[in-house]
This record gives sequence, C-alpha cells and structure tokens, in this order.
Amino acid sequence: MTRTVLIVEDEPKVAAALCEGLEGEGYAVAVAATGEDAFFRISTESFSVVLLDLALPGRDGLAVLQALRRNDSDTRVLILTARDTLADRVAGLDAGADDYLVKPFAFAELVARIRALERRGRVVGPTLAQADLQLDLWSRKVSRGGRAIDLTAREFTLLEHLLRAPGQVVSRDTLAREVWQERERTPTLDNVIDAHIARLRKKVDEPCDGRLIHTVRGVGFVVREEAS
Ligand code: CA
Repeated sequence: MTRTVLIVEDEPKVAAALCEGLEGEGYAVAVAATGEDAFFRISTESFSVVLLDLALPGRDGLAVLQALRRNDSDTRVLILTARDTLADRVAGLDAGADDYLVKPFAFAELVARIRALERRGRVVGPTLAQADLQLDLWSRKVSRGGRAIDLTAREFTLLEHLLRAPGQVVSRDTLAREVWQERERTPTLDNVIDAHIARLRKKVDEPCDGRLIHTVRGVGFVVREEAS
C-alpha cells in the first residue's frame, strides 16, 4: 500500500524540505499551501497522514482539522506548529489531532511520529475492544463486562497501545517510545513499565474471569483472551 502524506504548510521552504525528506523515506507526498487548498485535497483524496500547520492564511489549521473530522476519523493528523502553548495543544487534540510536534523539530523525530501513527492503524469507531474490555477513545472511559474501570492518564495510554494491536505482542521498546516518549529503554524505565502493567492487571484482570493482559517473557506484552 502506498503511504501518502499531505503536508499543509504555507512556508514554501519548510514545505519543500519536508516534501523532499518524506519522499526520501518512500512516501507519496502532496503539499497544500493554504487552508482552502488543504480542505480541497482532503475532500477529494485520501491520505494516511496529514501534517498540519496551524497558522495558515485564510482558513486556519484548526478549521481544516474540524472539517476533516466531521466525516473522517481514519486519517491520522499530526499538528506541526510553532504554537507551543498548552491551550493551543489542547485545542488541537480536542479538535481531533492524533499527535502534536512543536517547531523546530528534528526530521528523524517527525518520521518516527509518522510511523507511530501508521502503526496505530485505522480506527473503525471511537472504541477499542478485546473480549469484554472496552476503551472509548473520545470519552477516555474504560469498562470491562460493563463495570467502569478508573485509570490514570498513563495507564489509559498504555492500555490503548496494547489494544491497538490486539493479539500482537507490543515490545517494551515500543512502549518506552510511544507511551513514555523515551528514545531508549533503561532498567529504571523497565521497572516503571512493569509497575504500570501490574496496576493495569489489578484493575482490568483481577476483578474479572479470564486474564487479558499477558507477559511474553523477554519481548513485551499482549492483550488477548486466554485459550480455554
Ligand atoms: Ca504557517
């Protein structure tokens, strides 16, 4: 499958550099320089990932994002912007962005984030589920067998990553990178990951019949129904 990226960016130099870099990584790339142009492209073509500058002439990035989300929850959106205030970040995520990168950033980090978004795959609805466990991505509510489970933000993100790959082992390296935003695993971080997994089990598995969160020794963790 061709991996397609739409770059929405009004600075020609920035857009050209991103375009060249991403083409070098094997992506098919399109560029939109205005909000109107972006809106036209997303209405007529489909992209795996949209890189969205917020400050654009005319219709701004947030408006483009809101328009996209009205009928499309599949396209991954990564906001790229010099705006780094908390309010802007929250507004972007509230409007349906999947991730956020503040300029200036290292190109390698951008590519890593794009890959992470692609790995998340397509979300069919706003809920991730395995057996009787449900995780609602929008309300951020988790329940098992209809019983509500109260998770911390980090526990939620950890469970979300496991549920996005049901039946597949998620490595500690992936969790370190995507849940803890650390480039590399360390013994200390491994302990932190173990502690969070233990707490998740206590909340998700212990009160119920059937374990869902499993350790694959030396590799990582997997969410799946136990074979009976
Ligand atoms: Ca701009």
